[in-house]
Amino acid sequence: MQIDLLIFDCDGVLINSEPIASRTLAKALQDAGAAITAEEVLVRFTGNSPGAIRRICTEELGIENLDAVFAAWHLDIYPEFARSLEPMPGMERLVRSLPHRKCVASNSSTDRLSKSLGLLDLWHAFAPAVFSSDRVARPKPAPDLFHFCAETFAVDPKNCVVIDDSSHGITGAKAAGMVAIGFVDPADPRPDRARVLAEAGAALVARGAEELEKVLASLEARQVARA
Ligand SMILES: [Mg+2]
Repeated sequence: MQIDLLIFDCDGVLINSEPIASRTLAKALQDAGAAITAEEVLVRFTGNSPGAIRRICTEELGIENLDAVFAAWHLDIYPEFARSLEPMPGMERLVRSLPHRKCVASNSSTDRLSKSLGLLDLWHAFAPAVFSSDRVARPKPAPDLFHFCAETFAVDPKNCVVIDDSSHGITGAKAAGMVAIGFVDPADPRPDRARVLAEAGAALVARGAEELEKVLASLEARQVARA
């Protein structure tokens, strides 16, 4: 296929933020009385928009003073990002080696993106094309943010490839008429990630940056084979 735009998810694809986010959110929820571990937070919240996370906290965990919990979480998470956030292994080298036009499409808020990805050199491989679902009516799994990316770059959705580690991202990419690649962090403790992403509609699944490089090359080879 012809790839005109590569659209990267941020958390869990470009940056290794999910363990930090889960650990700090679990602590804020525990302090508010919820019985939930960091690993349970990782499984239940990863890839969700802030709105969806708030809904789960209120409706499933029975948290009442959610604004205070989120304030406590944010007090912890941003200094922790500043202290210990790293790119996903191998991803910076890969991103910089890819000749394609590229952008970031994330369910994280614009503020969180600047306080996470914005701390790393990797930000400059994308800026100013770092897009939060703040900019559109509906976060992933809706296709809105992916449509926004294609429109911004004036490219056909069918020539866009989305790389995302959550089923929401894969579902949204498919709904936008794009090719979706599921990304699995080799260190992810959750079982069956590849199956979950394939079932959500990922055309291919890559475990880690090295495999992603091969998967992207194989996608482009399909074009050569057809030509
Ligand atoms: Mg993600």
